[in-house]
Amino acid sequence: MNEATARNEGPMPRIAQADESGLAGAVTLLREGVPVALPTETVYGLAARADDAGAVAAIYRAKGRPDFNPLIVHVPDYAALERIAVPDERVRALANAFWPGALTLVLPLRADSGLASAVTAGLPTVAVRMPAHPVMREVLRRCGFPLAAPSANRSGAVSPTSAAHVAASLAGRIELVLDGGHTQRGLESTIVALRPSGWQVLRPGPVTEEQVAAVLGPPLCGDTDGIEAPGQLASHYAPGKPVRLDAADEREGEFRIGFGSDDGHFNLSPEGDLNAAASRLYSALHAAAAAPQERIAVVPLPRDGIGEAIADRLRRAAA
Ligand code: AMP
Ligand code: MG
Repeated sequence: MNEATARNEGPMPRIAQADESGLAGAVTLLREGVPVALPTETVYGLAARADDAGAVAAIYRAKGRPDFNPLIVHVPDYAALERIAVPDERVRALANAFWPGALTLVLPLRADSGLASAVTAGLPTVAVRMPAHPVMREVLRRCGFPLAAPSANRSGAVSPTSAAHVAASLAGRIELVLDGGHTQRGLESTIVALRPSGWQVLRPGPVTEEQVAAVLGPPLCGDTDGIEAPGQLASHYAPGKPVRLDAADEREGEFRIGFGSDDGHFNLSPEGDLNAAASRLYSALHAAAAAPQERIAVVPLPRDGIGEAIADRLRRAAA
């Protein structure tokens, strides 16, 4: 059994409702430097204080994440962003258009940011996001320090969109999950790098390149030449079984992930709605991983809008 599919290696973490007592318990642990899994509108994050090297090391340890792969820092408001990064007028425009929301910006790191250097993997830049989920926002507000939070799963595995997914992936590795229900967007944030010479999408996500271009004008042309996107590994989101993409035909022994009129074993959206499909994609991969079939097939999906981000995640799941 590989790293991505191993299960139940230790006691299940406590799953607490995000009520007053759950919130207070989570904030107490976070203050002490203990990572806690929290709901966001994209996927569940494994959060820890970004200003504490020990807390950040605990995230990498719990996930088994390679240390060259930097973390996204979550902030409650613009003032908190200005304490860790050096924004320019483009940041203000994007914040007005998309925050709080599923857009992460890679910005110059402030020399006196106070962030643990492992958060940025030693880079002179930092990835920052202002999340929209009310539970994550309330925790950030109460903490008063920024939270580093990658997805709350073992490194390389399928991302969690429910508290149960988190508990299954990180059993024996974390203490507490705050339950905020099924996440709404279902895919990780779009990552945009803002360079002096222009901007570029490092990871497609719920906010599309066209939407960013409507605010900033066209992106830098050409390849990601010279623009590093650390940790964007070819294989990621791995369900632990072979995945066949653009599967027009049905084959014996495959768990078929469908869309629209092509039902399969798990239909991402009978209505053919791509946003709904994005929000259910990881649930489908979790269901496929747990199913008796030894292989997974995914029907062809449209590429417009969030379809590009879905295709990106499926390509890595199949790699
Ligand atoms: P996640 O894996 O969802 O935690 O997202 C983190 C991803 O953000 C990493 O895999 C990197 O690709 C990207 N990232 C984080 N910080 C930086 C940075 N300073 N420069 C470029 N990309 C970054
Ligand atoms: Mg992840």
